[in-house]
Amino acid sequence: MRTLSAYVHIPFCASRCGYCDFNTYTAAELQRDGTSITSATYPDRVIAEVNWLRHANATDDRALSTVFFGGGTPTLIDSKELVRILHSLKSAYGFTDDAEITTEANPDSVSRQDLEILRAGGFTRISFGHQSSAKNVLALLERTHTPGKTWEAVSDARSAGFEHVSVDLIYGSPGETDADLAETLDQVSAADIDHVSAYSLIVEPGTRLAARVARGEIPNPSDDVAAHRYELIDEKLRSLEMTWYEVSNWSKPNGECRHNIAYWKNQDWLGIGPGAHAHANGTRSWNLKHPAAWAAKVDEGVSAIADSEVLTQMDVNHEDIMLGLRLREGLSLSVLGEAGLDQARLAVTEGLLEPNSFAEGKAVLTFQGRLLADGLVARLWA
Ligand code: SF4
Repeated sequence: MRTLSAYVHIPFCASRCGYCDFNTYTAAELQRDGTSITSATYPDRVIAEVNWLRHANATDDRALSTVFFGGGTPTLIDSKELVRILHSLKSAYGFTDDAEITTEANPDSVSRQDLEILRAGGFTRISFGHQSSAKNVLALLERTHTPGKTWEAVSDARSAGFEHVSVDLIYGSPGETDADLAETLDQVSAADIDHVSAYSLIVEPGTRLAARVARGEIPNPSDDVAAHRYELIDEKLRSLEMTWYEVSNWSKPNGECRHNIAYWKNQDWLGIGPGAHAHANGTRSWNLKHPAAWAAKVDEGVSAIADSEVLTQMDVNHEDIMLGLRLREGLSLSVLGEAGLDQARLAVTEGLLEPNSFAEGKAVLTFQGRLLADGLVARLWA
């Protein structure tokens, strides 16, 4: 049976980072849009949507095996309120015995007392947006925390009893040097964490970063530099006994993020909050994006879903290839068509896929293959 997870979107940030195109809003932006939604009025709406969903899917008796609060900055909501939302999910659906409950947090938006409340309230895992220890990189990204703040928050999270602590990194930013990354990785190695997610900086259209690149103020991030930095990250994390289990994610044994694995393996999940995506029984749906539009539907007691699509077998195969190939456990060759299989054979000779796994019916990326994963997905899908 497919597992059931829940994603709760918290669309608030204290300020908008220059590279970010997520569905998140500052208080000033919400005010300008004329909405009365604030971090204080939001939790009741979320709980109302949880109860609406439960009512709408009354025959689904699966308990939640993972819950993920993401954003935005979930910890801009009062920690007792986050726990209240979590408890509403528990009363509505129940949790499996080993349920993984994660929240994202910005290092400067969470106090030790908050962490204690979250842990006592049932959160088991926390993921901090560190991004870099280099002040010049944090400034370019327009992040508000100082590097040391992350490590204080990590230590407070461990003292509060969090079983799993993760940090997010961004590499390949213009102006970042190998020495900057080395400093970041040295600090990572000294921290009591069991998981790292590392993504290369992408210049998303419509962001302040994109405008600065377009004006020629800063160069576009270089793919070659990003590949070299990925290599440095992988080498350092391996020395810390963190193994890659997805192209951009490394963990110590049993530290993998089970919620993300549920996405990558196309399990089912509920999407709660503005813009949240859901996937259940072969249908993908997504909520109205703006908090005001979403809240209006919740207040009316009707569905906040903007649209949905039934996935065809072709869509499912494409997602299996796109997501499965990025996993260390690999992709079953049985999902590939004839042309895809020919490409996979070729990729083995090019050193992008492991030959032994291929002989056992799996496409598993080599290190070189991880660097070229996106291009290889396109080829296998051919
Ligand atoms: S804190 Fe995260 S979600 Fe908020 S603006 Fe920055 S990158 Fe975006």
